[in-house]
This record gives sequence, C-alpha cells and structure tokens, in this order.
Amino acid sequence: MKRYSVFAVAREALRYHQGWGRVWKKPEPKKKYEAIIIGAGGHGLATAYYLGKNHGLKNVAILEKGWLGGGNTGRNTTIIRSNYLQDASAAIYEKARSLYETMSQDLNYNVMFSPRGVMMLAQTQHEIRGYKRTAQANALQGVSTEFISPEKVKSLVPIINIDGPRYPVLGALWQSRGGTARHDAVAWGYARACSEMGMDIIQQCEVTGIRQKNGQVLGVETSKGSIDCEKLGIVVAGHTGVLADMAGFRMPVEAVALQALVSEPIKPCMDVVVMANTVHGYMSQSDKGEMVIGGGADGYNNYTQRGSFHHVEETVRALIETFPIISRLKMLRWWGGIVDMTGDRSPILSKTPVKNIFINCGWGTGGFKAIPGSGWAMAELIAKGHSSLTEEFRLNRFKEGQFIDESVAAGVAH
Ligand SMILES: Cc1cc2nc3c(=O)[nH]c(=O)nc-3n(C[C@H](O)[C@H](O)[C@H](O)COP(=O)(O)OP(=O)(O)OC[C@H]3O[C@@H](n4cnc5c(N)ncnc54)[C@H](O)[C@@H]3O)c2cc1C
Repeated sequence: MKRYSVFAVAREALRYHQGWGRVWKKPEPKKKYEAIIIGAGGHGLATAYYLGKNHGLKNVAILEKGWLGGGNTGRNTTIIRSNYLQDASAAIYEKARSLYETMSQDLNYNVMFSPRGVMMLAQTQHEIRGYKRTAQANALQGVSTEFISPEKVKSLVPIINIDGPRYPVLGALWQSRGGTARHDAVAWGYARACSEMGMDIIQQCEVTGIRQKNGQVLGVETSKGSIDCEKLGIVVAGHTGVLADMAGFRMPVEAVALQALVSEPIKPCMDVVVMANTVHGYMSQSDKGEMVIGGGADGYNNYTQRGSFHHVEETVRALIETFPIISRLKMLRWWGGIVDMTGDRSPILSKTPVKNIFINCGWGTGGFKAIPGSGWAMAELIAKGHSSLTEEFRLNRFKEGQFIDESVAAGVAH
C-alpha cells in the first residue's frame, strides 16, 4: 500500500492522480478467523487495529452489514474532549484524546484533528457548581481543564451573547486541547491500516446468528455464510440489544435516535466548540464553513436514522438566544443516528456470559471522542482477558450497583 506523503501527492499530481490504489481490499470471508469483530464503526475498526498493532493478532475479520463508517461514526458532530467527572471515565477518554493528538501520524492518514478548544457553558447556578466540581476532579485526574469567566467566554467566542434574558452565560468549563476531527477519516484511516495488516474488512455482510457450544462461542452466521472464530467482539452501538439477543443474553442498553444538522457555509466566525447543555444545543464551525449543530435524543426507543422537524425547531430556537447571528442562516441538511444509552450514561467494555464473546457498547451520545482509547482498551481485553482501562466498565456493574454516573458530563452533551 502506498504511503501518503507530500512527495506522493506531488508525484500523483504530475500524472493526473492515476496511480492511487485501493485504500482497503474487498475480500470474501474465510472459513475461520482467530477473532471476528462485528461492526465496522470507529470502535470496531480501532479494536481490530490495536489487536494487530499492540498484540500481534492479525488473523481478524471485521464484519459490517452496511458500509464501513456508515453508522454513528459517520453521523456525529465530532466533538473530542475528556472532561468527565469519574476517574474511570477520565482515564479512558483522556487516553483517547491523547491518541487523537498523534493519530494522523500513527495511521499515515490525515484525520484533521483540530484541538481548537471545547467549552461547556454554565447558564444556571447549578451548572456553575457542577462544572467547578468537574474542573477540580479533572485537576486530580491530570486532565487539563479550567472554569472560565463570562468575559473570557466572550473573548474566545465573539459571536456569543452572554446577556441572554433567560439563559445568561455565567462561565464555562474550558478544555483547550479538546476539539474535533474528521469522522469519516478516522474510520477510513483505521480501515486502511487494518487492511494493510492483512485483516479482512467485509462490508455488506450482516451477522444474523451467533453459534456457541457449552457456553463458548464457535462462530457467526452471516448473509455471506457461516464463519468460525475463536473470539468474538460485538461492537455495534445501537444494535447491541439485537446482537446480544442472538448470543442469548440481555443488555442494559436502550436504542434511540440522536439528531444533528448543518447550516449553509458561511465565512469563519467561530473557532472553538461551544456546548450549551441547559438549552440543549451545541455548535462548531466545520472547515467548509457550515455551522454544525447538535441537538437532543428522541424521547422514545427507535431505530430510525433520520431527523425530525420538531428537534430542529427545538434546538435552533434554544441556540438563537445565545447565538443571535444564526437566526438568518439556512439549514443545509439534517440526519439521525442510533445511539446506545445505558442507565449511568457510561459505556460497557466487558466479557459476557458467553466465553470469548466480548462486548463494547453504551457510548451513547458521546463515543466518537473515545474511539482510539476504546479500541486500545478493548483490544487488550480481547487479547489478554483483562485491561485496567475496562475494569470498571464491566457489564456486572449494573448487578452490583457500581454505577459510573456520568449523567452530568455525558447525559446531555457529546
Ligand atoms: C447525531 C449524533 C451526534 C453525535 N455527536 C458526537 C460528538 O460530537 N462527539 C462524540 O464523541 N460522539 C458523538 N456521537 C456519538 C458517536 O457517534 C458514537 O458514540 C460512536 O460513533 C459509536 O461508534 P461505534 O463504532 O460504536 O458505532 P457505529 O459507528 O454505529 O458502528 C456500528 C456498526 O455496526 C454495524 N452493525 C450493526 N448490526 C450489525 C450486524 N448485525 N452485522 C454486522 N454489522 C452490524 C452498523 O452497520 C454500524 O456500522 C454522536 C452521535 C450522533 C448520532
């Protein structure tokens, strides 16, 4: 596979870009693999990548029922931050954020990581207390964040109205090394690296059944036939319940649609990411100039992947008080993704009741930022049977009452 570099781009420019090869192969499934990962979203691909890179396990297939990166990974608003409250969360999200810093170099693929800074506005007294508490916790966890004044907010985001009548800006939790990355590129970069290591990424291959004997996994049934495996990773976000059902156990996860929209492109006007959790909206500006706006999750369980008008209205109405300039913008498109919500708003990275089946899910509205850290930890869990990063995210915590409550840091925002 060709290495991307400035010289390669120059060489190809001289020959009308005729020399670029396929970025990943299109293999047919083999009869058996050492490990199968179901789901070629960011988390599934990153898991496969670190299985190969960190643990030398390369006889791996990644099975995807649609196209790779076509689930939530290609539908999110790309916010990356690690300012969570609980220690276990801060550890895995900060691991992920730090891996994003060097991801383009590691994968030799430009994922356009842009650490432009993320702020979470405090617009009520309750939020001030909550975010100050998070900033203190982050200081102890070694995660760099600070609580900033309304004046500092205004200086960082000149288009913001800090004197709104209903929701004045009273300060913000600021993480200067948070930011965004190009979501498709993250999936494509991992896919290219997996394919280069000899792994098989099989698209249009839906898993329809899971075979097991004496409580141990044997393989999967798919739309492309039966495939055996020694280890199986289920990494399917909103479809977790469906796959768990095939394996014969239940998961404490609900599937709901989460929506987002983008405006027409405008001149650069905002170079940080702003989240307004009280009004339930957040916004950043893409490199193309579109205002990327995220809204809420549906209030009922469903598997739709489209937007609905009342959410757009609700989100935009809420944001206009804080960002009056967006009131005249035209909306370009809107969409939805199926997110997997747990009761404590924290993910599950765990062994399951079936031997050698591992599960990674529950990232809900905020798992894009976690992709590299989750893949790193999940690969360790699959390869070695334990990982310090996943220990507290075990499935049994719901039975044991050991919740990792992130409803403040993750329940609303992304
Ligand atoms: C509108 C929206 C905005 C968001 N904004 C943010 C944000 O700003 N920041 C952030 O950190 N996170 C955000 N998220 C959350 C984030 O997108 C997800 O947590 C993350 O992308 C989940 O990745 P994944 O790999 O687990 O899932 P996915 O990318 O959904 O991948 C799962 C894959 O499994 C496949 N699959 C399902 N069933 C089967 C089967 N039977 N056989 C084979 N394949 C199967 C699916 O087709 C899919 O491709 C947002 C999500 C949405 C929807």
